[in-house]
Amino acid sequence: MAAPLLDIRRIYLEPAAAALPRGQEVLARFPAAERVEVASHWRIPELREAEPEDYLRPKREVLVLGVKKGLPFRPNGRSADFIAPSSSNGCAMACAYCYVARRKGHANPITVFANIEQILAATARHATKQGPKPEPNQVDPRDWVYDLGENGDLSVDALISDNVRDLVALFRTLPKAKGSFATKGVTPALLGYDPQGRTRIRMSLMPHGIAKLLDVRAPSIAERMAFVPELHRAGYEVHLNFSPVVLHEGWEAEWTALFAELDDLLPAAVKQQLAAEIIMLTHNEALHDVNLAWHPKAEEMLWRPDIQEEKRSEAGGVNLRYRTGWKGKWLARFQALLAQHMPYCRVRYAF
Ligand code: SF4
Repeated sequence: MAAPLLDIRRIYLEPAAAALPRGQEVLARFPAAERVEVASHWRIPELREAEPEDYLRPKREVLVLGVKKGLPFRPNGRSADFIAPSSSNGCAMACAYCYVARRKGHANPITVFANIEQILAATARHATKQGPKPEPNQVDPRDWVYDLGENGDLSVDALISDNVRDLVALFRTLPKAKGSFATKGVTPALLGYDPQGRTRIRMSLMPHGIAKLLDVRAPSIAERMAFVPELHRAGYEVHLNFSPVVLHEGWEAEWTALFAELDDLLPAAVKQQLAAEIIMLTHNEALHDVNLAWHPKAEEMLWRPDIQEEKRSEAGGVNLRYRTGWKGKWLARFQALLAQHMPYCRVRYAF
């Protein structure tokens, strides 16, 4: 039998986080877990020094409870207008290409932030200050959109605390702002949050076989696809994230089959409001080295210097992207296939 997504055995906690009501609730949810006090959720040596091969166990068994200190809002303009301060970071899933911040090191299990009241208040203040959106943009024709899940997957966070429920509730009350997060999770609790159209969920999809190889610990593509109509019926705006697009021999046939399957499965009501993001894979040299220790097979798909080129990131790391010129051609081909099989699916953003 597959290991459960979460089997929390140890909680590293900042005392200030444990003292907050949300911290208390999280601790009460996992009463049997060992509690270890830490000065900072970023500095937990045991997480940094874990064995390279022991990558999945901490994701399943470890939780960190912290207080989010800075609450910045960053302009975005791609998936959202603004990136909101996150209510968590890290993830219990283990997609081999995952680039969520790994500052706490190695496997990067979930940190839940207990000062959700401050995060909610800051978000409400920021959204209210914006006033009405002056003109439509590709993010949204009417609302300011806030990305809530840049550093993790909120569907998994919803298994741990009510932070996501509170965020969805907040956006019900903000007339000019909408919450948004990308996910691979299938968490039935989300269906009871009553979003009233004010939260957009972007379900991440890719061909079945590649997801099986790369999206370790994530629900299958069939489960994710089946959840899309349910989320929409529950009141979410639902978009699709075709990301990352991982190129290999035979990709066109695989994506064509996925589009055809979606076209069969999605109800008209979902199709009417549908839009998608397309993001071609960017890989990273440091991540490649981490992955070689625990999932070398994934690297055969992700690490393709024969069709990729190096690009130094702003932070100084080496990223690999599909080669200029080729990438543009492949992206255009991808969009043509999508337009052919799902002509109602507007492309909000393609990179
Ligand atoms: S679900 Fe998202 S955050 Fe979690 S491992 Fe996969 S890519 Fe990373």
